[in-house]
Amino acid sequence: MQKFISEKLNGMPVSIFSTISKLALEYNAVNLGQGFPDFNGPEWIFDFALEAMKEGKNQYAPSVGIHSLKESIAKYQKKYYDIDLNEENILITAGATESLYVTFQALLNKGDEVILFEPYYDSYFADVTLAGGKPKFVTLRKPTFDFDYAELENAITEKTKLIVLNNPHNPTGKVFSKEQLNFIASMAVKHDLMIVSDEVYEFLTFDDVKHTPIVTLPGMKERTVTISSCGKTFGFTGWKIGYAMAEPEIITALNGIHQWTTFAVNTPGQHAMARAFHQLDDYLPEFRMLYQQKRDLVYNALKETSFKPIKPDGSYFMMAEIPAGRFESDIDASMKLIKELGVATIPPSVFYGKSDEGKSMLRICFAKRDETLIEGVKRLKTFGS
Ligand code: PMP
Ligand code: GLN
Repeated sequence: MQKFISEKLNGMPVSIFSTISKLALEYNAVNLGQGFPDFNGPEWIFDFALEAMKEGKNQYAPSVGIHSLKESIAKYQKKYYDIDLNEENILITAGATESLYVTFQALLNKGDEVILFEPYYDSYFADVTLAGGKPKFVTLRKPTFDFDYAELENAITEKTKLIVLNNPHNPTGKVFSKEQLNFIASMAVKHDLMIVSDEVYEFLTFDDVKHTPIVTLPGMKERTVTISSCGKTFGFTGWKIGYAMAEPEIITALNGIHQWTTFAVNTPGQHAMARAFHQLDDYLPEFRMLYQQKRDLVYNALKETSFKPIKPDGSYFMMAEIPAGRFESDIDASMKLIKELGVATIPPSVFYGKSDEGKSMLRICFAKRDETLIEGVKRLKTFGS
C-alpha cells in the first residue's frame, strides 16, 4: 500500500489534539487538552441556524462566502479596529484551519522560507511543509514568551517570504505588545515580506489588554493576511466557519485554492454567523468575563499544585511548569497524567522546532465548564504541591 501514498506525507505526524482527545476518551480523563468549549455557544445562534434552514438556505453558498456574512465581518472590523474592508477583501472558509491551508498553498513556492514563532500552532508547520515551504523558528522564551529582536532579524534570509504571527497566542496565551508588533511590521517592510496573522482569539484578551490587528500598523495593509474564526468567537468550533482578510488580489489567489478544496462553506451556518455578529456588542463583555473568570479559577487553583501556571493575557490556554525531576519530559508527564490521574493536557514540545523549552511545560485549556476545571485541577493537586 505504501507505494500508493504520496511522499508529501512522509514523517507527517498525527495531530497531537487527535491523539490526546482519543486517549482522554479511552481513559475517561477530564479533558483539559484540545481547545474547544465543553459547553454550547449562545442558544440564540441555534435559532438563527434553524431559521436559515427553514427558509431554505440549504444549497451551496457562493464559493467565496455569502454576502451578509462578509458584510457583518466588514462592519465589525470597521467598528472595532477602524479597518475598511469590502467583499473582495474577505474569503469565508471551513474554519480558520482552511484559511491557513489555502494561504500557504496560494502564497508559497517550493523552497520559500517561512518564519514561525515557536511554540507554534501545529497546523502552520504541516501547511508550510505541504506547500513546499521551509519553516524557520524564532523562540518565544518563557516565562514572558517575549522574543529576541536580533533572533528574528537573523532568521530572515533572501528566501524568506512570510512571517506567521498568532496573536493572541496559542499555546502560551501571550498577547504581543505594540512595540513587538511594530518591530515585526518593520521587518516585513524592510525585507519585503508578507505577514500571515492568525487572530482567532482576537476577542479573548483579559484585564485591560487590548488586541491590535497587525494590519492596522503602517505599511501592513498590503502585506497582511488576517485570519479569524466564528467557531472561536461564538463558541461553536464544530461549525467550522472561518475567514481570511487581505487585499483583493491576495483573496483571489486564496480562492484559487479554496474553490478546489471545499468550494463553499455550509450555508445555514454562514447565515447564522452573519446574524450573530449583529449581537457582538452585547455578547462580547459577557464572553470575555466568562473566560477571564475561568482563567482566574484555573490560575489560582493551579498555584496550589506542583504545576506552576504562567498567567495568560489572552486565548483560552495557559502553560504550566512541570515539577522538576518528577517526569522525563512533557510527553511523559502528559501520558502519566492521563493514565494515572485521569487529566488530559497537551505536551507543548510538539510545537517547537528548535528550543527544548516545551519539554518542561504542559498546555492547559480552560474553555471548559467550571465543574470540569475544578475536577481537573483537583486531580492534579493529588500529585502534591
Ligand atoms: N488557529 C489557532 C491559533 C487555533 O487555536 C485554532 C483552533 N483552536 C485554529 C487556528 C483553527 O480554527 P478553526 O477551528 O476555526 O479551524
Ligand atoms: N485549536 C485547537 C487547540 O489548539 C485544536 C483544533 C484541532 O483539533 N484542530 O487545541
